[in-house]
Amino acid sequence: MEAEMKNEYLLLTPGPLSTTASVREAMLKDWCTWDDEYNKDIVEVIRAKLVQLATSQAGYTSVLMQGSGTASVEATIGSVIPADGKLLVVDNGAYGARIAQIADYLNIACDVIAPGETAQPSIAEVEAKLSADDSITHVAIVHCETTTGMLNPIDDVIKLAKKNGKIVILDAMSSFGGIPLDMADLGVDFLISSANKCIQGVPGFGFVIARQAELEKCKGLARSLSLDLYDQWQCMEKNGGKWRFTSPTHTVRAFYQALLELEEEGGIAARHQRYQENQTTLVAGMAKLGFDTLLDASLHSPIITSFYSPVHSDYQFKEFYNRLKEQGFVIYPGKVSNADCFRIGNIGDVHPSDIQRLLVAMETAKYWELSA
Ligand SMILES: *Cc1c(COP(=O)(O)O)cnc(C)c1O
Repeated sequence: MEAEMKNEYLLLTPGPLSTTASVREAMLKDWCTWDDEYNKDIVEVIRAKLVQLATSQAGYTSVLMQGSGTASVEATIGSVIPADGKLLVVDNGAYGARIAQIADYLNIACDVIAPGETAQPSIAEVEAKLSADDSITHVAIVHCETTTGMLNPIDDVIKLAKKNGKIVILDAMSSFGGIPLDMADLGVDFLISSANKCIQGVPGFGFVIARQAELEKCKGLARSLSLDLYDQWQCMEKNGGKWRFTSPTHTVRAFYQALLELEEEGGIAARHQRYQENQTTLVAGMAKLGFDTLLDASLHSPIITSFYSPVHSDYQFKEFYNRLKEQGFVIYPGKVSNADCFRIGNIGDVHPSDIQRLLVAMETAKYWELSA
């Protein structure tokens, strides 16, 4: 039993990620979705804690939604933009592109600002789009673009959106809980994240933290029944934490445990510091081993880093991956379209000492140099 519960390798991926044994153990009990022990003592506590983590100001609420993180993004896009609304999306990676794709599927008018995967959006272009097109009602941007690991300039973009009276949707999927922010100070109306990223829970649901006054306007707007954010919120509000349809009970209990462990660690600031130390240790160590980062250091997030693949005829990602996995580390393939890369994540139950061990493992995994 003990041995089975222990992970064979560390996930250096942006979610699902390595969780603590205590988070996984929290799933070893079945729950009734009708009982107070689940709804009142777990779901409602989670909802309140999420709001506290997102802002110190009043007027915010949260909704949990079944599915992967994308389901929560789709629920938000599909439930908050009215039929005559229009979305402006910053697309500098796969997750920004996915928001535009969701709008397309749902027949929501949408315009994009697409500076490419390794560049930040030009603030002048955002300003020009906003002033040229009055029909834009909503602006969506990804906080940490997990495709590359880039941290987007959300302060500037949101400030402009707010100046122009737009509703702001932030995909903070891979950053919420790992990078300090206050959504009220920033001007975010809807912030989206999921259980299996920086809060360090297991996959199964996402959540949206919303400015209540804006969410209240969303009745009847949804384009999907199961992804109706307003309806899900109303059900939770009126029935003390009850989800409309079967909820991922074990995942939710694990998430509750993960939130307690975030508090024990010292909150988001302390977690951010650990991730940051993981990232700087990783980049410095990898540089010594001859690996360059895709992005300029000024664009890096503490969440995940893209490295250029070695230029060597013997190099194959799969072989490199397997050699690291044998030593207890799972890395992530690249996702950028115009460069050959691999990615290493710093989030989850991963500590600077793990990164040091990874760097030692890297030396023996560089088989293309060993055979030369
Ligand atoms: C992980 C992630 C998502 C959602 O991914 P799922 O695979 O649907 O859980 C969305 N946006 C960003 C920035 C992400 O990192």
